Amino acid sequence: MQLKKSWVTSANSPETHFPLNNLPYGVFSTDENEPRCGVAIGDMILDLTLLEEEGVLSVGDEPVFDLPFWNEFMELGAEAWLDLRTRLVDLLAEGGDSAISGNEALKSRVLVAQSDAQMHMPFVVTEFTDFYAGRHHATNIGTMFRGAENALPPNWLHIPIGYNGRASTVVVSGTDIRRPLGQLKPPNADLPHFGACKRLDVELEMGAIVGTGSTMGQPITVAQADEMIFGYVILNDWSARDIQAWEYQPLGPFQAKAFGTSISPWIVTRAALEPFRTSTPPREFDLLPYLREPGPMLYDIALEFALQPDGADKATVLTRTNYREMYYSAAQQLCHHASSGCEMNVGDLIGSGTISGPEKHERGSLLELSWGGKEPIVLDTGETRSFLEDGDTATLSGFAQGNGYRIGFGDCVGTILPAVEAPRDLPRT
Ligand code: MN
Repeated sequence: MQLKKSWVTSANSPETHFPLNNLPYGVFSTDENEPRCGVAIGDMILDLTLLEEEGVLSVGDEPVFDLPFWNEFMELGAEAWLDLRTRLVDLLAEGGDSAISGNEALKSRVLVAQSDAQMHMPFVVTEFTDFYAGRHHATNIGTMFRGAENALPPNWLHIPIGYNGRASTVVVSGTDIRRPLGQLKPPNADLPHFGACKRLDVELEMGAIVGTGSTMGQPITVAQADEMIFGYVILNDWSARDIQAWEYQPLGPFQAKAFGTSISPWIVTRAALEPFRTSTPPREFDLLPYLREPGPMLYDIALEFALQPDGADKATVLTRTNYREMYYSAAQQLCHHASSGCEMNVGDLIGSGTISGPEKHERGSLLELSWGGKEPIVLDTGETRSFLEDGDTATLSGFAQGNGYRIGFGDCVGTILPAVEAPRDLPRT
């Protein structure tokens, strides 16, 4: 696949994350306008709310872009998804429909510089489920806590393991993250105390967004699951390792993950990622038939994690990895999620699990990079880190590399704020 040329010239650069081949969906506002639906093209955003109002764009009988989220459009289904993409390519391509390119007054109203826009949550997250489906990550964590012989739990190679997370605290990139409070029991303490997390971490993940739902009581195939996925974002599953260590048995993480999850602002559609499909790795055990993939369902997406302390003039890149390292695809995770008869809804967010590669510089969390705090990392500023400090900014980013073009997501950024005081009526130590 080659670069498709647009009359928005910044979209034709080989470095832009938003060429005509991408067309990711977001919600933005400006000083003049309330939050609204838009599509990224080069360094600009095309205002779909306004285009729909002007009658240049219509997808179905009722307006769907008069709301500051994409759920209504998602609900229209796969045919509408394809129709919109086809129409947008026509409106933005060099030599395509001139409804915008040939109308200077309209053009100046519907194209907004990204630098003048504030990004918002692109969709209403109805529910959030996070998986633990990266083999290198699970092996590293298991080795640290249980030893190399018992690194992977016995179910791991058969089930994409997950837990039900919180939709209420999923936030868009740029939202600050407050250091969580919680119950902590250091290994040498007899009893727990309540206080600020000291082992705050990132988890570099991808998020899949469910665009069409399933029915309670009715499982789905992997192929159906793949077709239900509207698009993907980069996701930071912020994690409080010390809270997690004390609370996680027997039901898994709870408060350790509930205080915040960040996503990148643009939903990159499955259609844009189609040329980058790749297969999951060879299986040690054959998967049960319901989990077998009829074709390649992972994507080749280069991913990066960079850390910038408060006051530092640049970030240090700590991790370079790739989404293709996952053992289970989002389609397999979604299929497994619905396998009991669990209903999946429009706006469901599925976290991939931490994406680590086999090498040390490919590890997608500080817990792995610093090996549980035993091997602190040296930043370019000379400072060291085992876990996040107050004021640190974590930036996750990534793109798929095409032939002369890139499909990017926009950065997934969060800065750590100091913990609040513990509520006064709680016993304190
Ligand atoms: Mn996670």
